[in-house]
Amino acid sequence: MIKKLTIVNGIIEDDLIDGIPVKKRIITPSGKNNVRTLIPLDLNSALGITNHNTANESPTADDEMHAKYFQTVENADETYIGAHLFVDADSITQALPINEIAYHAGDGKGDGNRRTIAVEICENGMILKAEENAKKLNAALILTYPQFKVYKHQDWSGKYCPRVILGRNAWTDFVADIEAYVHSAGKETSKSMETPWKLGGIEYARDEQFIEDYEYWLANINNSMPAWAVFLIVQKAVEKIREEFRQEKEGK
Ligand SMILES: [Zn+2]
Repeated sequence: MIKKLTIVNGIIEDDLIDGIPVKKRIITPSGKNNVRTLIPLDLNSALGITNHNTANESPTADDEMHAKYFQTVENADETYIGAHLFVDADSITQALPINEIAYHAGDGKGDGNRRTIAVEICENGMILKAEENAKKLNAALILTYPQFKVYKHQDWSGKYCPRVILGRNAWTDFVADIEAYVHSAGKETSKSMETPWKLGGIEYARDEQFIEDYEYWLANINNSMPAWAVFLIVQKAVEKIREEFRQEKEGK
């Protein structure tokens, strides 16, 4: 199940996201700021996630290798480039703290670079599985930061990226699948975390016969109650008490 992540100082503390291992290979700053900009990215005002393809089909170009490569780039002091997270068919690797700006969107000081987290989808192997893992990662980030939106590199600079997804004309489905993951995770969360006491309330009302259509109330467990419903339930409760009181008196 996809859940809200635990993020400490920009690092994903979770070892797994829906069973996908999350590895940490955080680039060590060289002082030259090629990959490690050390510029803060405020996650509370961040816009969301920018998705990319690595544009490297080499079988060895997996998530771990890209993180390793970025350390070389950081040390070499030749170019400014970055990404927070790499995903392939079998794991996710975090290369940068997500609360630090990375150069990935090609829009200079624009919102893409300054206000979104980069997710790079590897093209080294089973691409559909890698995409599925990326969708789950996007969903977990949205559950963690509910204001997050899903972007593609192309949105910021026009670059044809993520090229594999765009090439299949699958971007709309990619976003829809993420939304579905978020939606079902939200449902699961409300069922497993909120219901012990909410369910108790509805079951009590049913057992005491304050409500008749238990299924209806169950389906609306997280909705607020209209005034008329409150009055009807109070009416039923009062009638029940009066009836019990009357029986008690007659019994004497
Ligand atoms: Zn890109």
